[in-house]
Amino acid sequence: MGQTDRRNALLQVDRLNVSYSVGTRSVTAVRDISLAVRAGEIVALLGESGSGKSSLARAIVGLSPKEATVSGDIRYGNHLISDFDTDYQEKLFGRLRGRIVASVFQDAAAALHPLMTVGKQMADVMTEHFPSLTNSEVRVKSRHILKLLHLPPEAKDAYPHELSGGQKQRAMLAIALAARPRLLVADEMTSALDQKTKNVLLDLVNGLALLERMGILYITHDPKEAETLCAGRVIVMYAGECMEAGSREHVLEGTLHPYTKRLLDSDPAKAERQTVITAGERVTSPMEGACPYYSACPRRTSYCRMEKPFLQKVKEDHYVRCHYVPMEDD
Ligand code: SF4
Repeated sequence: MGQTDRRNALLQVDRLNVSYSVGTRSVTAVRDISLAVRAGEIVALLGESGSGKSSLARAIVGLSPKEATVSGDIRYGNHLISDFDTDYQEKLFGRLRGRIVASVFQDAAAALHPLMTVGKQMADVMTEHFPSLTNSEVRVKSRHILKLLHLPPEAKDAYPHELSGGQKQRAMLAIALAARPRLLVADEMTSALDQKTKNVLLDLVNGLALLERMGILYITHDPKEAETLCAGRVIVMYAGECMEAGSREHVLEGTLHPYTKRLLDSDPAKAERQTVITAGERVTSPMEGACPYYSACPRRTSYCRMEKPFLQKVKEDHYVRCHYVPMEDD
């Protein structure tokens, strides 16, 4: 998605594919996705349930389930992962997770160890990656991270069940940040939280990028979150493929793809004057050879059924997969 965004990238993903074996069939969840995240940059990945965004997130951090087949290139700085089935690559992911890249997912309750205090879980991550740290250094670093995430110092001695939903998410984030990773992959981190707690977490994510220079890949189904974050870039996925990508301004304010428009218009705040994506509407499997959005697109033509559009550059830092978008020099 453009060369400029790849300079000094902490994470570079090229032509990533993820498929699953379902009985005798192979189902593609992610097709040909490329992206890059630089230090201090938030990249928002936007898509509904079933768009492939969580399969992509898990593949990026090497946590795909056994039945998944992953292909393409993932590069963390100088570390290239391109053959996902070898023991060596698995070990490499193991070394990168925690220290270089950390991930947080939606279900904090499941991710936290119920019988260990938050402080102990943070200390374990720190000493795994920095075995020479003394106990007092671990305590100082833990206090710093808790403060950064607006958690009280007592949270260190709390067990997960003693924390509120928002505190649990922040505790999970504190454990993820314990080894001071350079990159955070956050997948639907706030979806179980109320709006006020969501806003606190979004502020924290913005702060991590701005103050700590962390690169963040923020994955969400909620266009409002992508708007609230100081995201430099936005990528919109549908049926496993990128529909629109580019600067926040181009994708969210100068939207060109019919799917992105519909997704943005599904925001309840704008619902009165727009078409809404209904709760019952499912993201359907694309027809072979057709535009992935053909079945649901209000602007489709017979040509869209016959010819799949490429993801094409319509202007600097704006890419759209649709036959009917104006090019800059049109
Ligand atoms: S190519 Fe056709 S079906 Fe696909 S998004 Fe554009 S108008 Fe819709």
